[in-house]
Amino acid sequence: MSKILFRDPNVTIFQSALFQTNSTVIRTDDVVLVVDPAWLPEEVIRIREYVDSIREDRAVFLVFTHSDFDHVIGYRAFHNVDKVFMSEAMADNPNKEAIVEQMREFDQRHYIKRSYPLEYPEADFKVYRDGVQYRHQSTKIAFYLTPGHTADSMMLVVWQLGLCLAGDYLSNIEFPFIDYNSVAYEQTLEKLPRIHDRNWFTRLIPGHGDPALTIADWLKRRTESLAYIYALRESIATDTPFDANSLWSRYHFPLLQLKYHEDNIARMRREFEEGLWTWNPDVALEIPDNVPSGEVPKK
Ligand SMILES: [Zn+2]
Repeated sequence: MSKILFRDPNVTIFQSALFQTNSTVIRTDDVVLVVDPAWLPEEVIRIREYVDSIREDRAVFLVFTHSDFDHVIGYRAFHNVDKVFMSEAMADNPNKEAIVEQMREFDQRHYIKRSYPLEYPEADFKVYRDGVQYRHQSTKIAFYLTPGHTADSMMLVVWQLGLCLAGDYLSNIEFPFIDYNSVAYEQTLEKLPRIHDRNWFTRLIPGHGDPALTIADWLKRRTESLAYIYALRESIATDTPFDANSLWSRYHFPLLQLKYHEDNIARMRREFEEGLWTWNPDVALEIPDNVPSGEVPKK
C-alpha cells in the first residue's frame, strides 16, 4: 500500500510500495492536478478517492510526465476528468500497444485484478513545444519538453506553488536511466536552470524517491546526474574502466539497477560510434568563442 510521503495544504505525494514511485495530487483554488497516478490497484483507487474527497467544484486535470507503463497504468481509474495533459510525442507514441501489453503482463505476472481497464491515455492537451502555459482561472501551469529518459518526457511547473514535477529525472535513488538518448538527456539537465529562471520553483518532485525541497537539493542532484553522464562518456571514449564502486556507494539498489547501468553503457557506446558526442580530455569545459576574454570565469 502506498504511503503519504509528503503533505502540505496544496501538495500530497503518494508513494507506491513499488520502486518508490511518486504520484502527486495538487490542489489549487480552482484545480486538482493528478500527476502519474501509480500503480498497484489499491494505491490508484486510494488516490482517486482522495481526489474525489477534495475536488468540490474544482476541475480535475490528469497529467502524464512520460509513457513508461508504470506511470500511466492508473489512467482509467479516474472518471470525471476535465482534461488529460501529456507531451505531443507521448500522444503520438508509436509503441502504445506495446506499453499496454507491458501493463497486462505486469498484472498477469502478479495475479493482479483491477476494477478499471488498462489503456493508453488519450490526450486533451498536447504539449508540443517548450514553455507552453495553461491557465485555468487563477492557476497557471508551464510545461517543458524534457527528452532523454524517454523521447516523450516532459516536466511541469505549477506557478503559485513554486513546484516542479520532474518525471523520471533528478531522483535521489536513481542515476540517469537513459532510455532514449544521452545528448538529449544532457540538454534536459542543462535546460533546468533556465526553466527555473523563467518560472521560479524551489521544490522538485521526481518520479521515484524523495522530493527535493530546496533549490540546493535539486541542483545537487542535477550535478550528480551530469557527473554520471560525463564519467560514462570518458570511460567509453578513453576505453578506461568506469568506477562502479562509487556508483553503488551513492545508489543503493545495484541488483536491479546494474542492468540499467549496463543498458546506458551499451546505448552510449552506440552513440559514440555514431558520432553523436565526442570526448576531449584536454577540453573538459568548453568555453564558447564569443565570450569576451574579460568575462571568462577564473578557476
Ligand atoms: Zn518511472
